[in-house]
Amino acid sequence: MEIDLKKCNSCGICVQDCPLGSIRFRDKRPFVEDSCTRCGACVRICPEGAMALEVVPPYKGIQCDACPIVCLIRDGFPGACHRYRNEGGELVRITPLHPFDQVEEIVGPEPAGAIRRPLITGIGAGTTYPDCKPAPFIVKGRQRDVDVVTVVTEAPLSYSSIMVKIDTDLPVGDEGAPVMKGKRKVGLVTTEQYGSKMLSIGGVNLLTGKDGLLVAKTITDIANRKPVKLRIEGGSKLEFQIGEAPVINGRKPDNMRVGCGSATLGLFAPLLKESADEVIVLDSHITGLMSEHAAGRFAGTHPSGVRLKYRMSTPGRYFGDHGDGWGGTSITDPGEIIAGIDPKVARPGMRILITETTGQKAILFELGKDGRLREIPATANVERALKAISSSCEPSMVSALYVGGAGGSARAGVSLYPVKLTRAVHAGRANLTVGGAPVYLLPGGGINFMVDVGRVKRGSFYWSPTPATICPIEYTMELIDYEEMGGHMQAMKPFSSQEPVSPVD
Ligand code: SF4
Ligand code: SF4
Repeated sequence: MEIDLKKCNSCGICVQDCPLGSIRFRDKRPFVEDSCTRCGACVRICPEGAMALEVVPPYKGIQCDACPIVCLIRDGFPGACHRYRNEGGELVRITPLHPFDQVEEIVGPEPAGAIRRPLITGIGAGTTYPDCKPAPFIVKGRQRDVDVVTVVTEAPLSYSSIMVKIDTDLPVGDEGAPVMKGKRKVGLVTTEQYGSKMLSIGGVNLLTGKDGLLVAKTITDIANRKPVKLRIEGGSKLEFQIGEAPVINGRKPDNMRVGCGSATLGLFAPLLKESADEVIVLDSHITGLMSEHAAGRFAGTHPSGVRLKYRMSTPGRYFGDHGDGWGGTSITDPGEIIAGIDPKVARPGMRILITETTGQKAILFELGKDGRLREIPATANVERALKAISSSCEPSMVSALYVGGAGGSARAGVSLYPVKLTRAVHAGRANLTVGGAPVYLLPGGGINFMVDVGRVKRGSFYWSPTPATICPIEYTMELIDYEEMGGHMQAMKPFSSQEPVSPVD
């Protein structure tokens, strides 16, 4: 690499984005180490145009042609995608090809059927590049007395993103708010789901934008279940790892909610009725007021005269707000939710329980003769109702769906007629899996899919500086269907779990 130190402003972006960590600062100036493969990422991202590739590289190496980056890899070093290494002048795959039985336990139970279980996975397979070649491994075997074929590749997908689901009541930020990694945008907050906050990281437009390398790395880190730190613009700081509880602004929530405030009343009305004369369940979506709510009336609750400060949706159901308070609302002092109590309806000694949808925080008030509320200790019935709510909540956890669109190499490597593959996948005659895990296929045209990364072996996703994320893909189908779709029959090899599989010649 040639670095024009007059142009360099020491911003450090090249250090952050070099896929190999080959750039370091010495005396506040960047210098490039021997692990550099001339991937060119730094040349493209340097905002000052200070980086350039030498016309004649000052070293020898092996040129990898498995993707358009064409890394020049020195002996003992890996390529920019971390999949290939130069070992003594030979380019070798770092991760070996994984037959399905090596990932079976991680994938979990597979649906029944001869083509539901791939013979081998795309993990460690390598890529078909350029798109006119057969996939790196096309194997034939027998399952449930049926001749089946599995075709695998590691597909570099520019159309890729990851949808992160954070099971918590704690607010993360407004829908549509940018998700930042440091000072750079990598995604956005998307629509909230029942008990969960959702982020979308990546997508083709962010991947092809100025921070595409960071976006690709972030998607890959999340998919590989590494710890990640993100920040929502105008919202929270997030630290998370797939399969673990999140940390949101330094707080680690124990549980996700059992339902909204209205549903909580509906689910536990008989127990709640025994615990107090009136029950308020605080929730950012719908805060419930039992005496007005249909569930309360069903359980035999009497009017209490309590009015809430939130806007009513339907009787007993009030639209909440977002904040760091109880039930993900802005209410930090629970008594604040009560806008007033009608003395003509309320009676002295009446008890009001205020809790939240996880049942974790609660306070019991008694109405005095002077019309004021005073806190009293929780009764056994209150404890019983809260335990019923909290024990019905699931633990707060982060999960993610990798979302991809299979384009050129991920289809051409399978068949001479890509549209026949697309149709076969939609018709269920060819089964698409990712690292052996079942996918959800999006309806309509194309092969767009989602996969639970928790069912894919950790470390199976990569990224390259094109930039794209790299996803292991398998298509499994009956042999007759493979032939009919114009499969690369000449490249097919027999598969036996006892012997190593050799790649397509
Ligand atoms: S060319 Fe690629 S590997 Fe080399 S220093 Fe630049 S970003 Fe790093
Ligand atoms: S990024 Fe990976 S596949 Fe692409 S040329 Fe470099 S080593 Fe080869």
